[in-house]
Amino acid sequence: MSYYQKQYENYVFPFYESIIKGRNTASYYYNSLQTQNVSSEEIIHNQSILFCALLKHASQCCPYYKKIIQDYGIDLNNFTGITDLNKLPVLNKDIIRSNFDSLISTLHRDVIWTKSTGGSTGQPLHFAYTQESYEWRVAMSKRGYTWAGALPGAKQAYIWGVQLGKLGRIQQLKERFHHFVDRQLYFNCFDFDEKAMTQCLSGLNLFKPAAVVGYTNPLYNLALFIGDNSKIKFAPQGVICAAEKVHPYQREVIERVFGAKVFNTYGSREFMLIAAECEKHEGLHISAENLIVEIIKEDGTTAKEGETGRIIVTDLHNYGMPFIRYEIGDLGVATSKICSCGRGLPLIADVVGRSLDVIRTPEGKIVPGEFFPHLMKDFSDIARFQVLQEKLDHLVIKLVPTTELSEATKKRIDSEVRTVVGPTMVIKYEIVSDIPLTATGKYRVTISKLTGEQNG
Ligand SMILES: [Zn+2]
Repeated sequence: MSYYQKQYENYVFPFYESIIKGRNTASYYYNSLQTQNVSSEEIIHNQSILFCALLKHASQCCPYYKKIIQDYGIDLNNFTGITDLNKLPVLNKDIIRSNFDSLISTLHRDVIWTKSTGGSTGQPLHFAYTQESYEWRVAMSKRGYTWAGALPGAKQAYIWGVQLGKLGRIQQLKERFHHFVDRQLYFNCFDFDEKAMTQCLSGLNLFKPAAVVGYTNPLYNLALFIGDNSKIKFAPQGVICAAEKVHPYQREVIERVFGAKVFNTYGSREFMLIAAECEKHEGLHISAENLIVEIIKEDGTTAKEGETGRIIVTDLHNYGMPFIRYEIGDLGVATSKICSCGRGLPLIADVVGRSLDVIRTPEGKIVPGEFFPHLMKDFSDIARFQVLQEKLDHLVIKLVPTTELSEATKKRIDSEVRTVVGPTMVIKYEIVSDIPLTATGKYRVTISKLTGEQNG
């Protein structure tokens, strides 16, 4: 462990979080390094206690849940916790959109923060959460990343979708300071052409990160670009793949080029890190101190070993806008196996259905599909969208508006898309009333019909 890392762990991280920011993130993080090792029975027991408390709060303070408890005849005094979860209905994005106010806790109206997600399902969503919930999600993400060697204070390089639009100067400085203290270096993967990838490689070689974190497809494309000629002049502990599914062929190339193991992760803007692989790679450990993750089949029953089902998430610490049995829109493969690493945190065998095709530009740039949810999340007047590329120089963007789209929205979308797809792409916008589902009942956010060139 380097000198800085030691200082960071002992002083910088706890001091910055507790004293400067007045947050509990550091204590949740350090505590989670212990609780990851308790038995799965104890974890489930703790989740049940937390869940019963959350449900009680929601029934008293959120009009939406008050009504649900009444309508479903739930007796809170006899509610046993996790085993009774399926007595409650599933929450989804449409329900949240039409019941936003009644989902907010009356006790927390003045202290909630709000955020948007573009989602991997092509349905932007606006939601609320508390500082407490934020502290938990950051702690869980930090803990999950340690399994890949990304310890707090160790250098981390991010191949990431950097915030669109222009941040204010103060905001930019704040972010830079934050990245500097955390020793994080960012490369914008929404703008990854050959020049940017060349610069990224030199930047990485200078910075020598202990871990590389990135969206899967840009990481894979970067690995292909770098090739096998020992151009990597550092030895990372691990490469963390996020935001998109990592296919075996991608894992193999990334591991070979970076000379380190790939660690698959699963997260979302609603909850940050939901699950991550440990060094044994036997599935993804759920951030179980913060989230309950269920995998259910179409008939609502729990998926058994090896079966695929809908991923349903309950956030145990977001009292501002309780997410109880929230259908996130992804599919997962269930397992009840315990990982050989000894951590009692339950596993998801795999996450499927998160596949966003990449979009290629006539100028030879590869745009990760993630760009589009990232952009659309900012527009409350868009209910759903889909991006279709049938030819290299043609892009169709379908939009389902909630009301009539304002000129400002149209203009901003067009300018942001144009910046990323280059000057010669023909972009056609279609305002539609609905977007059909795929055969598996999912929305596909980006579809590329370019044969043999897709790797989403
Ligand atoms: Zn493990």
